[in-house]
Amino acid sequence: MSPDHGQRFMFDGHPVRGQFACLDETLAQVFARHQYPARVAEQLGQALVAASLLADTLKLDGSLVLQAKGTGPLRLLMVECDAQGRLRGIAKHNDDPALTQGSGLQSLYGQGHLSISLLPNSGERYQGIVPLEGANLSEVLDGYFAQSEQLPTRLWLTADGKRAAGMLLQQLPVNAGEQVDAGYWEHLTALAHTLKPIELKELPAEMILHRLYHEETIQLFDGHDIEFHCPCSRERSARALISLGIEDLTALMQEQPTVSVDCEFCGEKHQYDQTDLTWLTADNSAPGSDQLQ
Ligand SMILES: [Zn+2]
Repeated sequence: MSPDHGQRFMFDGHPVRGQFACLDETLAQVFARHQYPARVAEQLGQALVAASLLADTLKLDGSLVLQAKGTGPLRLLMVECDAQGRLRGIAKHNDDPALTQGSGLQSLYGQGHLSISLLPNSGERYQGIVPLEGANLSEVLDGYFAQSEQLPTRLWLTADGKRAAGMLLQQLPVNAGEQVDAGYWEHLTALAHTLKPIELKELPAEMILHRLYHEETIQLFDGHDIEFHCPCSRERSARALISLGIEDLTALMQEQPTVSVDCEFCGEKHQYDQTDLTWLTADNSAPGSDQLQ
């Protein structure tokens, strides 16, 4: 199995399921393009693994975006995961001593919010927003699930500059007439809280499940790969250019022979020459793939 993978499991006889995700090469790809202070890298790693766990749980045909925005030195963090387990992410921060010395989310984000957006390929988009309060991202997501009408869900996340790992537990709906066994759910989540970050990061799924739940019968399913991927394209970047407005785009054309749109996620440079730009300013719609791909 690839070092970057997700793996689902299910408790026999109880409507509770879970997932693991582990990121190694994906983090290397994200961090190869930007140097982040350790605490920012930790936040970004945790957000990437959280997005991977949530996208996998929701089995969304489309993508899931987690975005944290605040008034603190870590101004913006954004990660995206698609239905194939492909991830990208970025963080923007000021140089501030709080980034290396502080602790807790508030020293990073100040007053901030986390939004969770579900962007299906077809159908309605959904966005939930929760304050960035608590010790870590897991607590923020706990707050999100506590206030939403979604299935009870808990996440455990850990990350450093090299590896990110996470576990998710989710209580499934019971059949009509059956009672939810709240005590069992509490029991499982209490045991999960005893898992140390180093264990979550270093141990294979089988060993973690044995360590936490050796009294339970659990089905552990085959893993699936997770990888870095940026869906940026000339077409998408062209739309960003068009969104500048015709006037600004025309002014830009007069100043330089080519205009470059650099993707902040993957570093790709999408370049447009005078012919492309004339076309873009003449027809204020998204260019077709035959013209710009
Ligand atoms: Zn890109």
